[in-house]
Amino acid sequence: MSGPLDHALASLPRLEPGHVWLAGAGPGSVGCLTLDVVSALGQAEAIVYDALIGDDVLALAGAGAERIFAGKRGGRPSPLQAEITARLIALAREGRRVLRLKGGDPFVFGRGGEEALALAEARIRFRILPGVTSGLAAMAGAGIPATMRGINTTVVFATGHAADPADDPDWAALAKLGQPVVVYMGLKNLRRIADALVAGGLPEETPAAVIASATTAREARVVAPLRYLADAAEAAGLASPALVVVGEIVRLSATLGRQG
Ligand code: SAH
Repeated sequence: MSGPLDHALASLPRLEPGHVWLAGAGPGSVGCLTLDVVSALGQAEAIVYDALIGDDVLALAGAGAERIFAGKRGGRPSPLQAEITARLIALAREGRRVLRLKGGDPFVFGRGGEEALALAEARIRFRILPGVTSGLAAMAGAGIPATMRGINTTVVFATGHAADPADDPDWAALAKLGQPVVVYMGLKNLRRIADALVAGGLPEETPAAVIASATTAREARVVAPLRYLADAAEAAGLASPALVVVGEIVRLSATLGRQG
């Protein structure tokens, strides 16, 4: 087979021995991979990948590629970040062609920045390949425009991951912005986040959504007013990975959301 697509793939940059490509595999579906990442999967000799990378994405790797899992599995803690970066550096120094594959975009809440810094400090040659971040993919799939003239001029990406509320984003300040907020890693703390947004002045009736496993066969979502959102997500049994979207733009989901 040698059509225009093969030609396009062949024209993309080569992954050299001893180099690391730090790439985003998108939200899950192979349809959201960039051609750069498809090409990298075919070229890599060692692929260090996170828990959110699906089997069908890894299936695009070359037969001889070593696959190294660097995520959390079976409740066991994930390897320390320092171990992952040490591994990347060691593989590169062995002269391997290394692909570091992360979910979504590597520079959005994925600690990709830290890994790139470590590679830079170790003087390893690297390249960053962007990916479709799950926040945008999940909203698109749910029929929620990230920006809509007349509704919002700004969109906020926040992390809801903090174990300690003292480390939370300033939810009250975000509520006062009156602009939609997209929360990554927010499902576990959803009640706390919703309460804090309401306490900060966001109306309880603000439309909100939780979108789980966006773009995959397991995709599921609920749309509810902010004050009922945590109950609705729980009742629907939604599980991680999930995005929380809060703001008037969510209302459009009723009209623009996929019907089938
Ligand atoms: N770099 C990634 C984010 C890593 S943080 C990106 O750009 O998307 C991990 C969080 O991303 C998850 O807790 C969840 O909030 C979100 N996420 C990743 N994939 C997702 C998916 N398919 N559906 C919903 N949320 C997802």
